[in-house]
Amino acid sequence: QLIVLGSVNADHVLQVPSFPRPGETLHGHNYQVIPGGKGANQAVAAARLGGDIGFIACVGDDSFGQNIRQTFTNDGMDISAVHMIENTPTGIAMIQVSDCGENSICIAAEANNALTAEIVEQHSAMIEQAEYLLMQLETPLAGIELAASIAKVHGTQVVLNPAPARSLPDALLAMVDIITPNETEAEVLTGVAVTDADSAAKAAQVLHDKGIATVMITLGAKGVYLSEQDTGKIIPGFKVKATDTTAAGDTFNGAFVTGLLEGKAIENAIVFAHGAAAISVTRFGAQTSIPSRDEVEQFIAA
Ligand code: ADP
Repeated sequence: QLIVLGSVNADHVLQVPSFPRPGETLHGHNYQVIPGGKGANQAVAAARLGGDIGFIACVGDDSFGQNIRQTFTNDGMDISAVHMIENTPTGIAMIQVSDCGENSICIAAEANNALTAEIVEQHSAMIEQAEYLLMQLETPLAGIELAASIAKVHGTQVVLNPAPARSLPDALLAMVDIITPNETEAEVLTGVAVTDADSAAKAAQVLHDKGIATVMITLGAKGVYLSEQDTGKIIPGFKVKATDTTAAGDTFNGAFVTGLLEGKAIENAIVFAHGAAAISVTRFGAQTSIPSRDEVEQFIAA
């Protein structure tokens, strides 16, 4: 089984002609509430692609929190560790997308803040029995650290997508088996600005020196730089016409670990994940853009 631990957000998306200045009121259009949050996006990607998924998360007791649990179940996920927190809203992202395609986002963790070490502790058996634990950084660090340490003791492989970007304690990095930063996150973690294969190799070395065996720096449309101790190379992605890259990285991470879980070699798991992520960037929204297994297999074979 793959355990995903992470955030759940309601993405409130509004199309705007331009971003309002302080005191200004503008007319937006095409308002939508779309399920998002890095943890949920990655769990949904893994589940839609056929992974056996347990999700550890906290949602609010608002209508979004109630409905999303059913949606997760429909996607085939085990939600026994998705907690509903009383008198608290589900995490939110207020997203404005301008007509020229830029976005401006404000997020509030809300119920995600309740995913503390105490809650994680209640699910230690799930983490112990799993083959992989996949986490991001939108929930409290203490819970993430505890989950990693439980995994470490029991031989569960720890995959960390260190997003959103922040620096991390060496003690946490030392418990990670595979790390998947994008270019910005890699720079924040290592101090090395990643622009090409050479700089990616330098950044990867900093992370290897902190005890991480496998470093994968995602490079957007260019693919991913895979570094394992002595070898490093770019594995290119698929060429598509991008319409909305929201959740590209999340789809990539969920698909990648699903590939590993079913025994794919790491490079094959990356190609599978590139296929899933490429489809997601051709579609609008977060969880609305994540493809099914059949779609990914047909896309890769084409
Ligand atoms: P994030 O969304 O976390 O910033 P990246 O932008 O690095 O992450 O993208 C993650 C993965 O999504 C890439 O490795 C690639 O597989 C896929 N991807 C992202 N943007 C594109 C694109 N424009 N075309 C094709 N694939 C893309």
